[in-house]
Amino acid sequence: MREDLSVGTPPVLRLTNTLTRTKEVFRPIDPARVRVYACGPTVYDFAHIGNARPVIVFDLLFRLLRLLYGADHVTYVRNITDVDDKINARAVRDFPGLPLNEAIRRVTETTAAQYGKDCAALGALKPSVEPRATENIAEMQAIISTLIERHHAYAASGEVLFDTASMPDYGQLSGRNLEDNLAGARIAVEAHKKNPADFVLWKQSSPDEPGWDSPWGRGRPGWHIECSAMSERYLGPVFDIHAGGLDLIFPHHENEIAQSRCAHGTPVMANYWLHNGFLQVEGQKMSKSLGNFVTIHELLETDRFGGRRWPGAVLRLAMLMTHYREPIDFSVKRLEEAEQKLKDWQRAASPQPGTPPDDSVVAELCDDLNFHRASVALDAIARKANRGTETAAHCLYATLDFLGLLGDDLLAKNTADAPSGVDAAVAERLAALNARDFAGADRIRAELLARGIQLMDYKDETGARQTRWEMK
Ligand code: AMP
Ligand code: ZN
Repeated sequence: MREDLSVGTPPVLRLTNTLTRTKEVFRPIDPARVRVYACGPTVYDFAHIGNARPVIVFDLLFRLLRLLYGADHVTYVRNITDVDDKINARAVRDFPGLPLNEAIRRVTETTAAQYGKDCAALGALKPSVEPRATENIAEMQAIISTLIERHHAYAASGEVLFDTASMPDYGQLSGRNLEDNLAGARIAVEAHKKNPADFVLWKQSSPDEPGWDSPWGRGRPGWHIECSAMSERYLGPVFDIHAGGLDLIFPHHENEIAQSRCAHGTPVMANYWLHNGFLQVEGQKMSKSLGNFVTIHELLETDRFGGRRWPGAVLRLAMLMTHYREPIDFSVKRLEEAEQKLKDWQRAASPQPGTPPDDSVVAELCDDLNFHRASVALDAIARKANRGTETAAHCLYATLDFLGLLGDDLLAKNTADAPSGVDAAVAERLAALNARDFAGADRIRAELLARGIQLMDYKDETGARQTRWEMK
């Protein structure tokens, strides 16, 4: 496969396409300009670890495409939604003394900056472009005007609405048809709509709401139009891959498709649609509205989850261990397993500039990002490296680097040889604590401390006492 790469024929990449519900060979429109769009965050509050999943999964895809097609031949756009009623509400709550525009700017700037820090800590490369909705209002208005001209949109009660009945194949991505949407609609609320499935492109703003002048009065965009505008601006009317979490299939992605295809008169918006599964807590999707969330910042910088901080690379691996389309039930145990694996790999790895990532790992990822099988291949390389094969140690390092799993903070600490007998001493101390022999437990703690080993106690999910240790 390496030969293939050097003569410019990339190995075959297969991706599961939500649009066709099949795993397909990926064929870019132009291999010299592979184009990917992922829906980014609404910046009103810190991102939670569920939001980290698409960041990590589609970063892996970005890295793989860069390897296959060349780093200069892939454009990855991830937008920042900085106009939204949730942002306005947060601005009013947090900065009551400030003019609304200034308060909104504070909320969006702080949140977007934190998001950038979170993504970097998770080992995610910066996307090629991170456009903001508020910098693309004219582009949104242009699409809305075209949709009105082409009889795909109409004005009613101060809003401009997309006319879903004007698009015969509306609903292809989600498999919903207009009758389904009709059945579920609350008619009373939707009286001004021709069809309950019609959705807002532009809505009027009152004087105390943020707004922009437009042919339809001072107002602000609906939720979906921004992605149609930003993807067209940076990737063109038809591009290769559109990505996001499962919850975006309907209505967000369905409506993006409707807007873009009807405005540009194209048969598709993007050729491949990729969706990541949910990160769950006790079987429920992690979300702000359910209140069952932990922010990325809290997981990385505080002891709110499992009584300790977790390195970004550990969260990254914990997320990748499950196939991106499957749900993940998140737990401390999963993080511990990821940390152990990462330590094993990192201990066995050693750098050698110019070494490419391992072919078998790349081949597994080419099968719809099968990270599980890639990790089995990594284990095999680590075993070879541990038996003293230097090239395997170099290959392992290069592959971890390619996967964004070097996690420099961990690496420095863990490549030092683990001192012997610590695990046994920790177990002995736990047994002493459980037997209420506190003097014995303190003695073991002090002995370990004298060797530079610090113990930290915490409770696992079942409430059982656990201890981890680290070199001081
Ligand atoms: P939001 O800011 O809620 O629009 O979400 C940003 C991204 O995170 C979208 O791609 C969502 O689909 C995704 N997302 C939100 N919650 C979860 C979750 N619990 N698990 C996986 N992805 C999620
Ligand atoms: Zn979007």
